[in-house]
Amino acid sequence: MDRFSKERDEMVSRQLEGRGLQDQRVLAAMRTVPRHLFVSKKLANHAYRDMPLTIGHYQSISQPYMVALMCELLDLSATDTVLEVGTGSGYAAAVLSELCGHVVTVERIPELAKNARVVLGTLGCDSIEVHCVDGTVGFPGRSPYDAILVSAGAPAVPEGLKQQLKSGGRLVIPVGNSKMTQDLLRIRRHSKDKFETENHGGVAFVPLVGKEGWSM
Ligand code: SAH
Repeated sequence: MDRFSKERDEMVSRQLEGRGLQDQRVLAAMRTVPRHLFVSKKLANHAYRDMPLTIGHYQSISQPYMVALMCELLDLSATDTVLEVGTGSGYAAAVLSELCGHVVTVERIPELAKNARVVLGTLGCDSIEVHCVDGTVGFPGRSPYDAILVSAGAPAVPEGLKQQLKSGGRLVIPVGNSKMTQDLLRIRRHSKDKFETENHGGVAFVPLVGKEGWSM
């Protein structure tokens, strides 16, 4: 229990269940992770509102519904190893760590990676490793992954990310040809060369910047 427990429960019932999310493991994770600790003290009172919030460096922590939706689409099991591209505040990584066995999360902005490491360390999230690298090429050192979440908008699906999925693995990624809006795609790898793509509708993420993403 903390001073925001009630707001967190309300966030889950109104914003998530109210919009049709039903995965009980995801809902429980969203009820557990203290989102207010992943934003500045000034914004803590807004942490459970139905919106993204700034985390500095022109980046944002995603809207709670978007985090929960992406986690539901990843279809995670307790033993899965997951790669997240775009650590940002570390919040989505903390939610993922409630749902799987190990999380590798990568962030390109050193200060954000450092802050996320501190918060996740304070919360005792020891199944999460944070690396400061360009995640558009994935993180081959820990691959293959059961699931990959990209928390920033890509111009196209980076081939390297598809290749770092296990057979049966899922990649959830916002893709769009403008830096402002994307479609949320779920790509499932059925076998070495067989991938299936589903479109889960329009979203708006900050751009994925890097070798296989947008240039600055
Ligand atoms: N999941 C985050 C929100 C991420 S916002 C959270 O829960 O707070 C998207 C993040 O992706 C930003 O922090 C941005 O710096 C990062 N990003 C953008 N391009 C990247 C890249 N190529 N590799 C790693 N991180 C990247």
